[in-house]
Amino acid sequence: MKTRLFEIFTSIEGEGILYGTKTLFIRFAGCPFSCFYCDTPDALPSDSGKEYSISEACNLIDKNLQNNTYKVNFTGGEPLVQHESVNELAKYIKSKGILTYLESSCFDSQKFSYVLPSFRCIYKNEKNNIQQNSCKFQNRIG
Ligand code: SF4
Repeated sequence: MKTRLFEIFTSIEGEGILYGTKTLFIRFAGCPFSCFYCDTPDALPSDSGKEYSISEACNLIDKNLQNNTYKVNFTGGEPLVQHESVNELAKYIKSKGILTYLESSCFDSQKFSYVLPSFRCIYKNEKNNIQQNSCKFQNRIG
């Protein structure tokens, strides 16, 4: 199995109920949408970023994981486009005892159901009507 990552970096969470926590962001490449307000257009093409095997991606995570990181965000692009590799990497993060956090539109219920057991927190970006610039956010911790 392969995964395609656009970038990986540590920063401070700037949104939601875990605002202010030290976070490793894994930005997955590819998204089927084209929201005009997208702040990561370079990550939308499915061939953007770089391809890794799962073990290479785990090594990359280990290399970038700093001390006292509170959570790891799976973001994009749209992570569910790569739901199988997202699930594998989320299980890897979970095995380290670090909180897993998914940022997604949850556009595909089957793919969302597939990855759901591997995440503690979901940050759902719900696009009610992209043409009319409608967007709301919901949080869930479970
Ligand atoms: S779903 Fe997210 S990543 Fe995709 S185009 Fe919209 S804002 Fe950008």
